[in-house]
Amino acid sequence: MAERITGHTELIGLMAYPIRHSSSPAMQNEAFAEVGADYAYLAFEVGADEIEDAVKAIRTLKMRGSNVSMPNKTLVGQYLDELDPAAELCGAVNTIVNDNGHLKGYITDGIGFMAAMKDNDIDPIGKKMTIVGAGGAATAIEIQAALDGVAEISIFNIKDKFYEVGEETVKKINENTKCKAKMFDLADTEALRAEMADSYLFVNATGAGMKPLEDVSVVPDKSFFRPELIVVDVPYGTLLTKMRKMAKEVGCKTMNGLGMMLFQGAAGFKLWTGKEMPIEHMKEVLGISYDD
Ligand code: NAD
Repeated sequence: MAERITGHTELIGLMAYPIRHSSSPAMQNEAFAEVGADYAYLAFEVGADEIEDAVKAIRTLKMRGSNVSMPNKTLVGQYLDELDPAAELCGAVNTIVNDNGHLKGYITDGIGFMAAMKDNDIDPIGKKMTIVGAGGAATAIEIQAALDGVAEISIFNIKDKFYEVGEETVKKINENTKCKAKMFDLADTEALRAEMADSYLFVNATGAGMKPLEDVSVVPDKSFFRPELIVVDVPYGTLLTKMRKMAKEVGCKTMNGLGMMLFQGAAGFKLWTGKEMPIEHMKEVLGISYDD
């Protein structure tokens, strides 16, 4: 008899469209099995016009919770009972926890990024970070870094539709945290050089480095790097990006996006089960190395 799933097993969902490509179900179910947590995690194709009903289903089916991805991250908050402060500031939710009918929304991307830094002995607290990006991943990182105590954040972005989002994030950080944030145009390469020069940490939180932008680097050339700068990519599709290749040539410590991916899942795992995700086991099973 198969015993892993019984009448007591609680359901956790992943609601997004498209979603069949996701590695989260394999990751979460492996971790549940490893620690003996009685949950099952399944992906559901749920689009923007269905997310309200899907949240009702969480309540009706008494699911333990759900992850939420595009296009629902910015839509789902209005149907929940409470938002965690980071989710409120980001205007986005990727994790829902159902405590006896009370649905609370969290954003774990930024928590995952900061936890991955810690796991790789990178400590930006009280220091300066320069980051490129103003989309979903970047905003979550910027808000969480500011809440956690990063002293200064310089945000760069190209002048596309996300630039205004970056300006809004800067305002929220300056009004709600002790961190000092500034916004710059990525085309201003002299500003980029100057901000990187006294930063402890440099982060690429754009799609650059991943298909279809796998040949794009947000940093023009390797003269922008110095060996003491720590250089982190958020994309994880093309492991060694053009940008990190340049940084490595200069002697920088670099890190790919797999740590953030793992730890954002670990944060949800903890919220639902109350247990720590077995990180070393997961790294081994998923073949995760931070410096590929
Ligand atoms: P998004 O669409 O919300 O934002 C895209 C960002 O890329 C914006 O800042 C945009 O201005 C920028 N951009 C687009 N084209 C660019 C170009 N040619 N040059 C420079 N910047 C450009 O996307 P997102 O959800 O924030 O995802 C961004 C990246 O982060 C993706 O590669 C995604 O796969 C990755 N990601 C990783 C994790 C993780 O756990 N490691 C989590 C979420 C997203």
